Amino acid sequence: FAGTTVLFRLRVEGPEREDALVAAFVSKDGAAFEIPADALPKMAAAGNPATLSPLAPGDRTKLREISLDVAQREGDRRARLAEKRAAPKLAKEESQVKTYFEALSGELKEQKSESRGEDAKKEAATRLRNLERERELRLLEVADRFRASAHVDAVAALAVSGSAARVKLLFQSGARKLEREVVWFPPTGNVKPPVCDLCGGALGEAAICGDPQHNVLLCANCRRYCQSCGAGLCAEHTKACGCGAIACPAHGAACEACAQYCCEKHLFKCVRCCRAFCRQHAFECGVCRLISCVDHTKRCGSCDIELCGEHQRLCDASGKAGCPKHMVNCPECGDEVLDVAVSGGKCTTCRNRQPAAAGDPAVSAALLFVPAATGAAWTRSDTKSRIRLDGRTFLNKYRVWLGKDLKPLSAFGGSKLFGMKKLR
Ligand SMILES: [Zn+2]
Ligand SMILES: [Zn+2]
Ligand SMILES: [Zn+2]
Ligand SMILES: [Zn+2]
Ligand SMILES: [Zn+2]
Ligand SMILES: [Zn+2]
Ligand SMILES: [Zn+2]
Ligand SMILES: [Zn+2]
Repeated sequence: FAGTTVLFRLRVEGPEREDALVAAFVSKDGAAFEIPADALPKMAAAGNPATLSPLAPGDRTKLREISLDVAQREGDRRARLAEKRAAPKLAKEESQVKTYFEALSGELKEQKSESRGEDAKKEAATRLRNLERERELRLLEVADRFRASAHVDAVAALAVSGSAARVKLLFQSGARKLEREVVWFPPTGNVKPPVCDLCGGALGEAAICGDPQHNVLLCANCRRYCQSCGAGLCAEHTKACGCGAIACPAHGAACEACAQYCCEKHLFKCVRCCRAFCRQHAFECGVCRLISCVDHTKRCGSCDIELCGEHQRLCDASGKAGCPKHMVNCPECGDEVLDVAVSGGKCTTCRNRQPAAAGDPAVSAALLFVPAATGAAWTRSDTKSRIRLDGRTFLNKYRVWLGKDLKPLSAFGGSKLFGMKKLR
């Protein structure tokens, strides 16, 4: 390596003060790295031909610009660490403020409820509002006092040359990889290890956030664990099921109906569409016990049990679904209908038969479909999705099914004596 080390004075202000020196090394090709500040005397001791030159303000602008980012990043990291250390104290002060104002507002509320007359009530309400505003201000003040900030000033530059190694560190978890670079300066004898991307603290046993979209390295303190696979997740990507279990995106999902996040154990997949639902929006078929979703479940019109797509039959007379146990054949027409649609030995369709009106286009459509039935007397009966026409001549009878759009579906016919057969 050959380049210049810029020395910065770093000052952290906030809940606690910190003064330190930060060294940023800028190589000849313009890359900047932070190096341990105590490397400098060691470099000098190693016989490095180093010359320390003070930096005047406005001096070596380019060098300063390149290295400033590095120094500022280190400053921000230390500021965040300082905030983290002070967090318990902050929480304590906040709760003190809250308790104090709670007591005050309790008193005011009591006064308000006891006050007589419009004016007195109004005044009490104003005082309550003012108190609430003051409470917000005091809380902001406390939060402000615990905010840390870092300032860096370049103080000197040191030209150094010697050998250094850029070491690539590869963090791998399953198929996912994250690369970090560290610089090793032989004079210092050690490298500055990468830090947790979230809190800036030591990585220790590092892990990549379990959310596949989130490429950050996390320390153990910044991870919550999926209860199915143990993957570590950052706070932002930690989602919990109603049962309290934390589940990573591979072992949990939001219900497609209500968006409630559910763990593997409390998530149900519809056998038809494979979408996942919470228990409330998944239904167990009363026949086969398989799960299906709101869109693919129907209830038996007779016994009200839930039915999956495989076990729901349609009763066209009532327009409802039926379970296998409650679908029967109408004794009159033989059609499969719900048992509750049959009364007096006839299904709803059979009971609703009316003589067809003169010039009914359905009759014309039926005759076009079965010309042999010309001259028959017709009755018509509408189901939920179809039209049934029954025709009788002196010797024969006919039954023609049409769609609501008069499209012919099927036709039966035969002698009154021997019964009907399918014609078309
Ligand atoms: Zn961390
Ligand atoms: Zn998992
Ligand atoms: Zn994440
Ligand atoms: Zn749901
Ligand atoms: Zn759960
Ligand atoms: Zn479904
Ligand atoms: Zn079923
Ligand atoms: Zn049933």
